[in-house]
Amino acid sequence: MRILVIEDEKKVASFIKKGLEAEYFSVDLAFDGKEGLHFALNEDYDLIILDLMLPYKDGLSILREIRQEKILTPVLILTAKDSIKDKVIGLDSGADDYLAKPFSFDELLARIRAILRRKSVDEDNILKAGDLILDTQTHKVLRKNTQIFLTPKEYAILEYLMRNKNKVVSRAKLTEHIYDFNFDTGTNVIDVFINKLRNKIDKGFDKQLIYTVRSIGYMIKDY
Ligand code: CA
Repeated sequence: MRILVIEDEKKVASFIKKGLEAEYFSVDLAFDGKEGLHFALNEDYDLIILDLMLPYKDGLSILREIRQEKILTPVLILTAKDSIKDKVIGLDSGADDYLAKPFSFDELLARIRAILRRKSVDEDNILKAGDLILDTQTHKVLRKNTQIFLTPKEYAILEYLMRNKNKVVSRAKLTEHIYDFNFDTGTNVIDVFINKLRNKIDKGFDKQLIYTVRSIGYMIKDY
């Protein structure tokens, strides 16, 4: 699950990012309205957390513009403006929920879960490849009924590969999915994670699931 956080207070933004990454989400940060709108229009997210008072472009304008562009990604407004009037305007402009600052991280997380649950009512939470099963709600991973314990980054890579089952996923795509834009993509860090995943997912099982596609990337194959 990939989340965009548009928030100009850097401390708050990095607090949210750290907390969400520990909960297995991939998080991109945008520190002003223009950058936020650009990411929202050009990247794929499962959820957008949106501050209202932002430099260059305010949150409500961003919300209206992305809804005009028919982008239906759920939006959670997070702001110091907590009057009833502001809440109503936010929700009427196409937001899915509203949380006033200061907030507790636990409440933010609970609201995110609720929004994603509503969103995924029609989607299947269970991803399968051969005898490997991944539950995107509980983050539980099983192979032949044995639970496999993954770190948040390993989980994020595996979920992404499984969502794109039987398709080759490039290293660049994987890097983009699990890191923010400040990350140096020149390293072989993805290969390191894939090796760790292989040790947990494939080692000791008769059928291989993770394949290397030479000089391009990786693929999870069903059988
Ligand atoms: Ca602000």
